[in-house]
Amino acid sequence: MLSRLSPEELASLYDESKEKMPPEERKRWLNQRLAEQLQFAYKNAPAVKEKFDKAGVSPSEIRTVKDLEKLPVTTKDDLVRLQQANPPFGGFLAVPLNSLNRIYASPGPIYDAWGLEQVKSAIRGFIRAGWPKPGDVVLVSTMYHMVPAGLALTDALDAMGCTVVPAGIGQTELQVKLLHDLKATALFSFPSFTMTVLKKAKEMGYDVRRDFNLKYTTGGGERHIEILRKTFKEDYGLIVGDAYGTADLGEVAYGCGVGEGYHYADEACVIEIVDPSTGKQVGPHEVGEVVGTPFSNVYPLVRFGTGDLASYTDESCPCGRTAPRITHILGMVGEHIRVKGQFVHQKELDEAMSQFPEVSKYQMVLRLDDHRDRITLNLEVEPGVDRQALSEAINKRCQDVFKLRMDKIEFLAKGTLPEDYQKFVDTRWG
Ligand SMILES: [Zn+2]
Repeated sequence: MLSRLSPEELASLYDESKEKMPPEERKRWLNQRLAEQLQFAYKNAPAVKEKFDKAGVSPSEIRTVKDLEKLPVTTKDDLVRLQQANPPFGGFLAVPLNSLNRIYASPGPIYDAWGLEQVKSAIRGFIRAGWPKPGDVVLVSTMYHMVPAGLALTDALDAMGCTVVPAGIGQTELQVKLLHDLKATALFSFPSFTMTVLKKAKEMGYDVRRDFNLKYTTGGGERHIEILRKTFKEDYGLIVGDAYGTADLGEVAYGCGVGEGYHYADEACVIEIVDPSTGKQVGPHEVGEVVGTPFSNVYPLVRFGTGDLASYTDESCPCGRTAPRITHILGMVGEHIRVKGQFVHQKELDEAMSQFPEVSKYQMVLRLDDHRDRITLNLEVEPGVDRQALSEAINKRCQDVFKLRMDKIEFLAKGTLPEDYQKFVDTRWG
């Protein structure tokens, strides 16, 4: 158990003035801390020194977030390889191993070094959101072994002064009983599991609003869950908090509850959105990989590629915070293709095609025609469809969703595409 923080210590973790500093001041603040962080990382983490030396870059050459482009991105695959060659942390750990509070093992396998830095960052998020507060009874219904989920949340809630019920996942009826009997005020879980628990409560004859003391729940961990979030709010009267983080970096971005998307958690981490093929930073609303450089004196990864694709905006947010926002997470690097200088994620294609129930299967085929990208969309459709009208509607929809028109739309006989067909076929590099 970590020690509980005093009210003064808690108050010192959140500085409202930092949240709303003017954008130019924010950039200077970030650049200065980044330069210090890189000096520290270079001196204390051998793998960071090697990364700089191999790139022929000295830490003093990186004075701004833009300068980070001089360094390569360390991908998740790179990190797995580095950790396996030099276990457990691949040379990125800046402190003795036995000074860590927690070591987690995430799929990969990747070792994650966790401790007070992440705890403080999580608490900052709770204070910012306004919940949970010291004295709240929190049911933590997420995995407790190996990965930084249940135990990591427990550490932060405990240090903050909450009472934690380490419920884990499964045993839905028991979870309902715990929520009821312990008068829990918050449920921390994946939205789909929260929904299962709430439905079970109804089945067991409870009215959540009347019989429970539940006020808060979390929306993190699963993406594209807008519908569930709405249900939690409207049907159960719950406040839904949301954040985006990874096992390697900890907190990366948080929802403010006012504007759309997730503000960069730039007290904890420098965020870049980069073109995964070049490592160069992309502009607002362009899709790229989320890359993080945490402010850590423990495990100072530099330009770590999360594998998540997203875009960002630096437009002002109605909440008044000036940190840029990740607009939404589009999925993983690998489930997307780059065509005509543009990223298309499979989810975007799915989203576009979800409007056309008459199309039973669709497949985007990319080929090179005289060094130029050409897109053909293969369709299997229900009989009797007006092909020309459908083609026009699809092209319009694709343009709305991912800003590209198809060069050709082909209608295939039903059953042409096998059951396990690929939605993207890229013949350009064959
Ligand atoms: Zn905001």
